[in-house]
Amino acid sequence: MTISKLSGYEVARRLVGPFYLVFGISLYIALHREFTEHPVLVYYAATLGMMAFTGLLEWVMPFHKPWQSPDDQFINEIGSTFISAFLGHNVGKAVAFALFGWFVVYWRGVDGSAPWWPSSLPFAVQVCLSFVIWEFGLYWNHRWMHAGGWRFHSLHHKLRRLSWLNSGYGHPIGFFTTSLFSYGMLALSGASAEVLLFNSFLSAAINFLSHANVDMKAGFINYIVSAPEVHRWHHVKDTPEAYDKNFGTQLMVWDHVFGTFYLPKGKAASHLIGDDETYMPAGFWAQWLEPFRAAKEKGGQVTIPEQRMPFRSKRATD
Ligand SMILES: [Zn+2]
Ligand SMILES: [Zn+2]
Repeated sequence: MTISKLSGYEVARRLVGPFYLVFGISLYIALHREFTEHPVLVYYAATLGMMAFTGLLEWVMPFHKPWQSPDDQFINEIGSTFISAFLGHNVGKAVAFALFGWFVVYWRGVDGSAPWWPSSLPFAVQVCLSFVIWEFGLYWNHRWMHAGGWRFHSLHHKLRRLSWLNSGYGHPIGFFTTSLFSYGMLALSGASAEVLLFNSFLSAAINFLSHANVDMKAGFINYIVSAPEVHRWHHVKDTPEAYDKNFGTQLMVWDHVFGTFYLPKGKAASHLIGDDETYMPAGFWAQWLEPFRAAKEKGGQVTIPEQRMPFRSKRATD
């Protein structure tokens, strides 16, 4: 179909994905140029900017309108994003650098990178390289969480709606291992702090994008980053072929390498998402404690409503 035959809305659906990435990168660069002396401030300002931008897109062109309405987990989504995710990620980051960063610091060159890091390459190439290394940690952490570490990830799969706000919905230990794996890889890579901060910003922006309730047709972008169309397949409950697929948290590269990429042509994931099988209490602190409760205390009764569909018994055990 040629562009001239597409309606304005269809054009918007196809352009919003690339525009999101271009906007995010431009925002970070613009802020960085203006406030070069305050890189951490730039990181937080650009991240807040992307939260607002993703929220605006969800409001203007939602994929599934009912998902705009908060459900009974809304307060927990906020609490999880700003407490569980913040805490888990920062402790994980600190431990990763304490464990793996010391020898990089010892070897650090003038620009702050380790001697084995290719710091002579263009900055954009360095960011792409560090992102792929970073995602290797994320990918294997996510695969582990769908196997032995399921108890720390099952909460994320209780979601019944997807929104940028709940990309950080999960157990703090899940976020801790996520950062331990990903920052561990980054610390070992020896990339400079500047590369690392840009990487962290891109990671946050793509995290929001992956859960965004935005009606987009991102095309080839789905093969590169975890855009909503591809990550939605990771959450659906009505398509068994999609279970345990698309583990990429921000980049899809390792799903291609290890054969777990799933994006059928001409078919979109439905809005039917959520794990109905793993027991989960509805309260915030009870959800923190749930992985530690004795198995005999788990009644099997689903307390988050509207999750009745039996599914993926395999997921909890393999
Ligand atoms: Zn998952
Ligand atoms: Zn998700």
